[in-house]
Amino acid sequence: MGQVYIIQGDITKVEVDAIVNAANNTLLGGGGVDGAIHRAAGPELLEECRKLNGCETGQAKITKGYKLPAKYVIHTVGPIWRGGHKNEEQLLASCYRNSLQLAAENGIKTIAFPSISTGAYRFPVNRAAKIAMLEISKFLEDNDSIEKVYMVCFDEGTTQAYNEAFKEINEKE
Ligand code: ADP
Repeated sequence: MGQVYIIQGDITKVEVDAIVNAANNTLLGGGGVDGAIHRAAGPELLEECRKLNGCETGQAKITKGYKLPAKYVIHTVGPIWRGGHKNEEQLLASCYRNSLQLAAENGIKTIAFPSISTGAYRFPVNRAAKIAMLEISKFLEDNDSIEKVYMVCFDEGTTQAYNEAFKEINEKE
């Protein structure tokens, strides 16, 4: 079965088949990890994104990685946290599920995720971490094609949240 690794660092530097971008609905670039990915990939990424006609919250679209070490970028749009009664948890789970599904369909074996929605979109990181770890674990149980999933956390607090969520899920089994 595929393995999950939680690491701290910059996702644009990770050598995997695909990195996931926490994009916005336009797919035309933004701040945070989105800005970092576009800067590292170069202007051709934005050119390809312009042809995609945006992306709905919870869905995912794939492009090439251009100057990134990763061959592909999977762009997914996390929900903006609005207090928890606007389907935010289900939408965040869909981001992970749909990104992994798209990766599997494209023969991707190693993939790296950032902490979707917990920056500018303000999703509480402890809740987000539980949802992410649960969706990734469920997917790997049912699907043989993905070998490694990296959760790339940018700061110490985020790393801690994902490590705790990972422990919780694995202790239950
Ligand atoms: P969102 O709008 O989905 O909340 P953000 O980019 O604002 O997306 O934040 C998502 C997470 O990505 C935050 O934890 C932020 O610290 C982190 N982040 C920012 N830059 C990078 C990077 N280069 N690599 C990995 N994670 C990053």
